[in-house]
Amino acid sequence: MSKKGSCSSSIEIGGMVISSIEFSGKMALVIFTAKCMLRCPYCHNSEIIEGGDVYQLEEIFQKIEESIDFIDSVVISGGEPLMQDTQVFEILKHAKSLELSTKMDTNGYYPEKLQKMIKLIDYVALDIKAPFNKYEQIIGEAIGSQVRSSMEICSEDPDTFLECRTTYVPALMEPEDVVEIAKSIQCDIYTLQQFNSKTVLDERLKEAVMPLRDDVKKIAESLKPYLDNIRIKTYEFGEEIISSSDN
Ligand code: SF4
Repeated sequence: MSKKGSCSSSIEIGGMVISSIEFSGKMALVIFTAKCMLRCPYCHNSEIIEGGDVYQLEEIFQKIEESIDFIDSVVISGGEPLMQDTQVFEILKHAKSLELSTKMDTNGYYPEKLQKMIKLIDYVALDIKAPFNKYEQIIGEAIGSQVRSSMEICSEDPDTFLECRTTYVPALMEPEDVVEIAKSIQCDIYTLQQFNSKTVLDERLKEAVMPLRDDVKKIAESLKPYLDNIRIKTYEFGEEIISSSDN
């Protein structure tokens, strides 16, 4: 590991951790890739969006192999993993060669890059940060059409499980915006997450109201006409299923 810039045989990351909560039902080695092109006001990973520590890909492969007795999956999170797509592609290939399941968290900015590696990813968690036509208003970047394309790539692939997820930030959006999102997405599960003002990129949000778990639950309940599988994630109660097509 070094602090210098990366090349195609190295990758900048914010850290690696073994976790049971990042990939439902699986133990995962989670690799937090550094760098992000967005600056979401509520970002809680701001310490890694400019860059991270440089690892050789061989070091990452070695970490996966050292962890193999404890894990059954590799999760690539961020930052935005597809900013280092060549390296991420190699990591996914390596994980698959070891018969591990794979998951990627992405903000959907790069549909073409996602398309190139979709066959290597079992589970995509895609941020839907706003209704597609309100991205600029809510996070300051008009990337709704890119995110929609990323969603379509995943939802059209029968082998990829797609989770769409939204962080509900009352200071930036109305409950109706969440309903609008629900009406316009196709996914295997939708997660509505509670905004937390403790760690945010935009200092102004530090004073912003955090929605209560009951507020998040009420909004999620209102999405039932549009989506089959809905859950909420709150700091008080963790994950709770609101609606499931299995019931
Ligand atoms: S919240 Fe995600 S997409 Fe937004 S700036 Fe942070 S890492 Fe990037």
